Amino acid sequence: MRLPIYLDYHATTPVDPKVFQVMAPYFTEIFGNAASRSHEFGWVSEAAVENAREQISKLIGAIDKEMIFTSGATESDNLAILGAAEMYKDKGNHIVTSSIEHKAVLDACHFLQSAKGFEVSFVPTDIYGQVHPEEIAKAITNKTILVSIMFANNEIGTINPIAEIGKICKERGVLFHTDAVQAIGKVPIDVQSMGIDLLSLSAHKIYGPKGVGALYIRRKNPRVRLSPMIFGGGHERGVRSGTLNVAGIVGFGKACEIVQKIMPQESIKLKQLRDKLWNGIKNGLDEVYLNGHPVDRLPNNLNISFAYIEGEALMMGMKEIAVSSGSACTSASLEPSYVLKNIGVGEDLVHTSIRFSVGRFTTDEEIDYTITKVIETAKKLRELSPLYEMAKEGINLKTIDWTAH
Ligand SMILES: *Cc1c(COP(=O)(O)O)cnc(C)c1O
Repeated sequence: MRLPIYLDYHATTPVDPKVFQVMAPYFTEIFGNAASRSHEFGWVSEAAVENAREQISKLIGAIDKEMIFTSGATESDNLAILGAAEMYKDKGNHIVTSSIEHKAVLDACHFLQSAKGFEVSFVPTDIYGQVHPEEIAKAITNKTILVSIMFANNEIGTINPIAEIGKICKERGVLFHTDAVQAIGKVPIDVQSMGIDLLSLSAHKIYGPKGVGALYIRRKNPRVRLSPMIFGGGHERGVRSGTLNVAGIVGFGKACEIVQKIMPQESIKLKQLRDKLWNGIKNGLDEVYLNGHPVDRLPNNLNISFAYIEGEALMMGMKEIAVSSGSACTSASLEPSYVLKNIGVGEDLVHTSIRFSVGRFTTDEEIDYTITKVIETAKKLRELSPLYEMAKEGINLKTIDWTAH
């Protein structure tokens, strides 16, 4: 076993060697611009792109050609929300989303609120981070043009009842966007039966390359139209101009093909490793709490609060294990995770949280090592913690008045 151990697969994944292999020729020999219509070099690249479009479409049950390539899911989320807002602004100026979406969705909505005169309802979730369909139904008004709810959360792994939300949107004639970045390749997705109109994807979360993403845009029942956010040569049916990253797209397609084949077995393996990690930690430490839904959760996600321990201190004490505290996106700052705060994790526990995520290349040996190391580091830190000592002596910390008089 080699150190460090990577347990941060929600942040990114390595490119699968099988994916890299099919990408390689597209950097050198097969270099044509997929938009070059006048010669063989262009045709070959275009064919490769269309093949990838089909591979990706298949994974989500989309009819071919309903897919636009982007630079990643951040762009896909922005295009879905800003592009729909611009296109349908005469129909209405209201958007419904949740309070624990990815920042790419939340900040695009904040921009529409502050700069474009839109109103946004950020519906709350339950304590497991799940959006209840009734909340969506309640929030929709006759001004609502779009509902955007993530398929699965990137911090706590909670999976939303997407088909039910899609059904409500259909009944109310509102477009439905879902950020499915963490869900694809982990759980079955079908844009037809789930009533999804717009769906964001990213290659680097499923063992493809970074900097490549896609947005599924429904073409029929209803036909969804988006205003472009990037202008230029009219690529991608005029919705997203810019020369296509052919090698990256080829890799994205292959990554989807692989994951579609192995998903049933891989999900079981991921869940076994994840459950082994959780059981190991739980058996070795008291006062550890699971964040997220106990059942409706991605098979690779484990988000734990370690009471009386700073998450940052725990991470520093086990530097050979790569995990995230709070959100990967806010880990540059020490602000507590807005996801955990919004699902109601208390102030005392938010700072103690660590996200572990297992993946395709995680081994049993790595999990064994991690269990031992986490328990050892956590016990050491708690020995130094006066709060933990007081709690163990039976003092109710909530009744203490800490302020100096
Ligand atoms: C990683 C992630 C994104 C951003 O994707 P990029 O391709 O890195 O821009 C968006 N949404 C979720 C849920 C993610 O996990």
